[in-house]
Amino acid sequence: MKKKLIVGNWKLNPATLAEAKSIVLKLNKVRGATSTVVICPPYVYLGLLKSKFALGVQDLFWEEKGAFTGQISAPMLKQFKVKYAIIGHSELRELGESDHEINLKMVAALGGKITPILCVGFGLTADMNEEDILFHLQTQLENGLRGIDPDKVVVAYEPLWAIGSGHPADPEHTERVAMFIKIKYKVSKVLYGGSTNAENAQSFLKKTRIDGLLVGGASLDAEAFSKIISI
Ligand code: PEP
Repeated sequence: MKKKLIVGNWKLNPATLAEAKSIVLKLNKVRGATSTVVICPPYVYLGLLKSKFALGVQDLFWEEKGAFTGQISAPMLKQFKVKYAIIGHSELRELGESDHEINLKMVAALGGKITPILCVGFGLTADMNEEDILFHLQTQLENGLRGIDPDKVVVAYEPLWAIGSGHPADPEHTERVAMFIKIKYKVSKVLYGGSTNAENAQSFLKKTRIDGLLVGGASLDAEAFSKIISI
């Protein structure tokens, strides 16, 4: 089986560096992780964590330097050995991030030799028609991937209603969406994200067309995340 990619998105957590170090210390003890593992902590912890796993970020800015208050560039992140960047997470889209800005960030990440993980997702309720979902995903994918080699990026399918809700999507539905993204957009890696945990991760990871998981809440629980990366 192809090696899966498991990405932990810590979001605005944990509150202290001591807690962040403690999670990493526990994860470092995992022997023989079967997946490629990426941890995406808040920026301020990046240089201070000694992780045996790859580091990622939850966002970046498209300019390299200049008068852009509060922003962080790909070349800056590269110095902290950042290998992946989550781009276009729904929580940032909700704050007003546009498809155009997302595309600029995708280009900037690739230019800085950081692999972007483009998040796409639609639907406020679980019962939404699959054709409608695909229709909306197309806009996000076409805009996000404009001018980009799809083979160099990862896409994460995250239905909005599944994020942080405790209710993951159906793995069969997810696999069909992953197939659609791969066939139509020639993307080689598609992850699933939304309420995955140590109990349900396997049902997604056993699907051959789902290449891994983007894990939010459970990535802060060292025990749960250790189980997920060992599946
Ligand atoms: C996410 O925010 O990308 C996510 C998947 O969160 P959770 O696993 O907590 O649903």
